[in-house]
Amino acid sequence: MLKRIVSTFSFWLPVSLLSAQTRPLPVIDMHLHAEHIKKGAAPLCIGAPFRDLGIHDPKNDYREVFQDALTTNAWADHSLCSPGSSDSLRILTIIAMRKNNVYGVTSGDIETVRNWKKEAPDRVIPSVYWDFNSALNRGLTVDSLEKIFQSGEFKVFGEISIQYEGYAASDSAFDPYLSMAERLDIPVGIHIGCGPPGAPYLNTRNYRAKLHSPFVLEEALIRHPRLRVYAMHAGWPMLDDMIAMLYTHPQLYVDLAGICFMIPKNELYFYLHRLVNAGFGKRIMFGSDNMIWPGAIEAGIQRITEADFLTNDQKRDILFNNAARFLRLTEEQIKQMP
Ligand SMILES: [Zn+2]
Repeated sequence: MLKRIVSTFSFWLPVSLLSAQTRPLPVIDMHLHAEHIKKGAAPLCIGAPFRDLGIHDPKNDYREVFQDALTTNAWADHSLCSPGSSDSLRILTIIAMRKNNVYGVTSGDIETVRNWKKEAPDRVIPSVYWDFNSALNRGLTVDSLEKIFQSGEFKVFGEISIQYEGYAASDSAFDPYLSMAERLDIPVGIHIGCGPPGAPYLNTRNYRAKLHSPFVLEEALIRHPRLRVYAMHAGWPMLDDMIAMLYTHPQLYVDLAGICFMIPKNELYFYLHRLVNAGFGKRIMFGSDNMIWPGAIEAGIQRITEADFLTNDQKRDILFNNAARFLRLTEEQIKQMP
């Protein structure tokens, strides 16, 4: 009854009050990409979640098999499809952020992230996407990154995707970058976990399954004890390794990117439940890993809100509080994220 009375009169309420009433609680997405869509490319549809991960007869070219699975939805009952252009991707992602009240650590090449930030200055937390290729071909060396971070424009160093190039996070070639981030106190997000199924047979020949293990981070953490680091994709599926690392290195956080919407739901819940049961509910952060599928943001949030093994407080920790603590947001900054 009260509901009916409120809704009858609600059109008289000031707009600001109405939007405050309907706005969901804030979410920090620690893993959002500012991407491009190739002109004329067919929509690619990612399983949300996949039902089957990789069905392949090796007499065929896996690149074609995978492409086919993403255009025909053959491996999923529910899929999210990419929009038709880079502009629509940016616009639809920002709409999804506003609708779900999301603040996103948004990574990509420098200029693209700047453009997204210009369009949604209140939503985009700029982050630098990096791998060795971007040092070689885009000049993102330690020196140039140091200037970028010192300017204060970019807040996070990630996604670091050197796993795709066959490098472990503790590799000595990457160490100068970690030293720089530690010195400047810039949080670092490193891809440790799942790429696309069958990654070495796509265009990333050096990708290796053994680099899914969060143990690849261990020596780096020991060498840089003041570094703020999160293992993106929560090291899935290396659950025991992940728990051992969280237990051993209390500064380490994880995000749930990709696995929150892409892998079968029971597997996500099994993995997440175990991490929480093991005592790490305060160090798990939400991440969507939206690349070219703006629907991934809402799908990922829903998986967390629908998890009945989590209390409301645990859900709020994952969706907001843990990231706010990790990023060392001030009271004032949090107040500006209503
Ligand atoms: Zn990743």
